[in-house]
Amino acid sequence: MGSGEGSGKSRNDPKPHPPPPAPGFTPETPFRFCPADGTKLGEPRPSGGATCPICGRSWYRNPAPAVGAAIVRDGKALVTVRARDPYKGKIDVPGGFLELGEHPMDGLKREVMEELGVEANIFWPPVMFAPHTYGDDGVHALAIGFRAEIVSGTPSPTDDVADIRYVALNEIDSLDFAWNHDREFIRNALEHR
Ligand SMILES: [Zn+2]
Repeated sequence: MGSGEGSGKSRNDPKPHPPPPAPGFTPETPFRFCPADGTKLGEPRPSGGATCPICGRSWYRNPAPAVGAAIVRDGKALVTVRARDPYKGKIDVPGGFLELGEHPMDGLKREVMEELGVEANIFWPPVMFAPHTYGDDGVHALAIGFRAEIVSGTPSPTDDVADIRYVALNEIDSLDFAWNHDREFIRNALEHR
């Protein structure tokens, strides 16, 4: 997961010539200019929030929530191969970044349809929460993992998925996962199916 990803979809689009980052601006640096009107923000508070002197809004750096699915069938788990950077070619799970206002379970159903072309049931409650970073910029994300099952259709890779593989428990350690939390997420699903 993390993996392909919702409002973050643009993050997966190829960008051959990314603009150079502003000097000293990291994913942890408080915002310096108001995203609404471009005004220079006041000094950040200890919380990291900074307020705009013109419109009064406060701006914070927050993680982007992303959802992923552990789908186990006949003793094997469905994993994907990433078609695009970041982490192109690495092993991932179906899923992606949430869109604005979207419930995590709805977002995961959407991502599974986009990436595999199938309808899925998502099971409550989530079984994994993993703060992590995404891409070369180290953007902060929060992975939320759910168990899921395919209810109709045959999975076929589309969107930002290059390939689909069904893997057994004894293969988990040898796979080149983009994120180790997904390796443990899938291992856990196979051990407790
Ligand atoms: Zn403002």
